Parts: sequence; structure tokens; C-alpha cells
Amino acid sequence: MNKRRPTRQVSVGDERVGVVRIGGGLPDAQGRTTEPAPVSVQTMTAGYTYDIDACVTEINRLAAAGADMVRVAVPERVDTQALPEILNQTRVPIVADVHFHYKRALEAIEAGVHKIRLNPGNISDRDQVNAVIDACKERRLPIRVGVNEGSIIERKDKHKRLKELGEFFSDQKHGRLIAIMVAKLEEYLEIFEERDFHDVVISAKSIDPAVVIDAYTAISERFDYPLHLGVTHAGPRETGAVRSVIGIGTLLANGIGDTIRISYANDSVFEVQDGLEMLYCLGLRERKGAELIACPTCGRIQVDLYQLVQDVRRKLAEEIVLPIKIAVMGCVVNGPGEAEGADVAIFAGDRRGIIYVQGEKVANIPEEEILERLLHECKVFEQRVQRGEAKLGEKVVDIIPPDPIGELGSGVDIIARNRTGSGVQLTVDGQ
Ligand code: SF4
Repeated sequence: MNKRRPTRQVSVGDERVGVVRIGGGLPDAQGRTTEPAPVSVQTMTAGYTYDIDACVTEINRLAAAGADMVRVAVPERVDTQALPEILNQTRVPIVADVHFHYKRALEAIEAGVHKIRLNPGNISDRDQVNAVIDACKERRLPIRVGVNEGSIIERKDKHKRLKELGEFFSDQKHGRLIAIMVAKLEEYLEIFEERDFHDVVISAKSIDPAVVIDAYTAISERFDYPLHLGVTHAGPRETGAVRSVIGIGTLLANGIGDTIRISYANDSVFEVQDGLEMLYCLGLRERKGAELIACPTCGRIQVDLYQLVQDVRRKLAEEIVLPIKIAVMGCVVNGPGEAEGADVAIFAGDRRGIIYVQGEKVANIPEEEILERLLHECKVFEQRVQRGEAKLGEKVVDIIPPDPIGELGSGVDIIARNRTGSGVQLTVDGQ
């Protein structure tokens, strides 16, 4: 992991909904060095903004899932007209996503949104941009300038500049495209800088994670504004997660990026959940809620582990608030080693399981009782931590692996089959 790149800092929100800071590490307007803010997670509603009740419900679901900010599209006047009531019924900073019509931005600002997103590809008239900048400046609202690959328009009078920039980035695979993105940003940000407006966040998304990595790396070297990372239109969650982890995760590991948005063709709650998990895994956010590790299963499995893992995951999300680490292991072969750092662990055997709490064996139960007992032990452990009687991640005693044949009943069938020459070998060294 590289150290996070210092940037200017912007603030989104107010006293009523809370303030989310983006970026930091460089001096502010008063010359005070800002502390880098935790990387924030944002998402966007999928429904129509003018449908107030549905929009409020969606925003509140996303906020409950952990979104630090929620963006809404405002393509029509009817959408900006809905904003005052939406703002009234929600408690998370709201960002208005504006394309084509600068007046939607002015209306959204007037309605009280907390941040504006502008696209240089479709709002470029200097007077119109100035009008939005002035309105944001008056209310101290930040603006995200987003140059998506798909909406970049190459202009004739920029050829010379692009040639120079293209040469500058010529060692990169996507040099010309990145040169266009940088040129577009330079041109657009000139308007902001002329008006002494610096509450800016930059994004440069692409559907190609490799372009995303190269583009943001180049931009981070040329601009000191905080960066909003994203792999745009990443597709369904199944493949979009991989694209996002490659693009966003690589940049974050390199110290680049201050706020992220994952884009799935799916419920936006998944964008929030997966964005947070990415930040937890990279150590960029303090984990909220339980962390579940589980074995992938193999030919040694003797319980329905996939179902158990899904049930445990759902129940933990509902009932556990502390970042307790829980390991669900299919057998005792590799289980103890892999569960070493877990607060609560279960090793399954032949239709039963043994539960350990910080290394101490606390139960040996049949499969149908595992879920309930595991949750009970998690809750008891959580209460002990809350009372100061136990510490998360503390190793009380070394796990003594259970006897797989005696205590867990594992291997009995396998050994029997081996004796008749039809089974697999019972090994002790794992996968
Ligand atoms: S050997 Fe590993 S993968 Fe196979 S069941 Fe045991 S813990 Fe799971």
C-alpha cells in the first residue's frame, strides 16, 4: 500500500445531514494543513427523482447501507422541483447530477443540494459554467467535474495541445485518450480557477479498468484536487465487481483516490456494500459490522456449508455491530490455521460442528443447531467486548484442533469406503 496522495480538501453536507470531507493533506485557504479524510463511498439512485416517495425510500436505504453521499439525476425541471421535499425527508448529503442543462444545476442549488456534478462534455458554455460556479461559491458547495471517456468531445482548436500532451503520455497504452481527458480538464478547470473557485473534485471514468488506472494516475500527477474514482457502467455485479476491484482497488492501493463509486446494473445497495468492503480490505476505513471468512469447501465437506455461510452472513449483518471476525471452516484439516485470527470460529465435521471463541472450545453441536449457536456465541462475545471483558482480535489460547474422527465424526464414512476400496484417501495435509 502506498501512502495516500495529499490533495486539497472539500466538504459536502451541513449540520443537519452531517459533513463529509473529501481528500486532504494540503493547506486550506487559511494555510492550515488539512487531515486526509477517510475515503468515502457514494452511490446513485436508480429511480426517478420526481417520484418523491420512491426516491426518498431509495436514498434512505442507501444511507442505511452505509453510503456517505447519494447522487440523484435531475434531467427535468420536475426533478429539481422534487428536491426540497426529498432533502427534507433524508439525512445524507445529496449530490445533483447535471447534464446538458445548466439551469438544472441552478435549480438544484436553490433547492439546497450539497454538491453538484457537471460534465464538461455537455455543459461547456463559459457563461453557463460561470453561473453555476457563482451559485456554488455563494453557498460554499463543491462541484465535481467528471470527464467520462464516453462524453469527451475532441475539438479542432485543441489539436496542438493534444499533440503535446499525447507525446507526454506516449509511453502509456492509452496515451492519446488520457491526453484528451487531461486537456479537457485543464480547459474546464481554467474557468473555475479564473473565478478563484477551488472546491472541486475530479473524476475521469472509463469502462476499461486499465484506462481508469492510467487516467487517474496521470491526473493525480497534474492536479491537486481530490479524486472521485469509478469504473463507469461496470455491468452486472458478477463481472462489475471484478472490473471495479481492478480499477478502483489498484488506484487506492497506490494511494490515489478520495471518494469512490462502484456502478452496477443492479440494486445500488450492492455498490455501497462492495465499496465499503473494498475500503475495509485496504485498511482505508474502519470496519463496521462483522467480518466473515469462510472456506471454499472441497471433497472433505460433510455439511451444507454454502447455505450455512449465506445464513450466517445475513444474520451477522442484521445482529452484530462490532467488527468481530468470524471463520466458518468446512473441516479441521486447514480450518484451525486459517481461523487463527478469528474471534469466533466453527470447524465442521460429519453433520456437526465445533465452535471456538478466541481459541477456546465452547460447543460441539449437530449441523441443524450450528447457525443459532454460532450467532449466540457471537452475541455473547460482542457483549463481553462492549463491557470491556474481552478485546477484538485478541488471542486468548491457541486453538487445539478437534479430533476429526472422535469429536467431529469426520472420516468415519471415508475410512469405511477406503476399506472397501471405493473411497478417497483421508489426508491430513489439506488441499
Ligand atoms: S480442507 Fe479447507 S476447503 Fe476443504 S473443507 Fe476443509 S477447510 Fe474447507
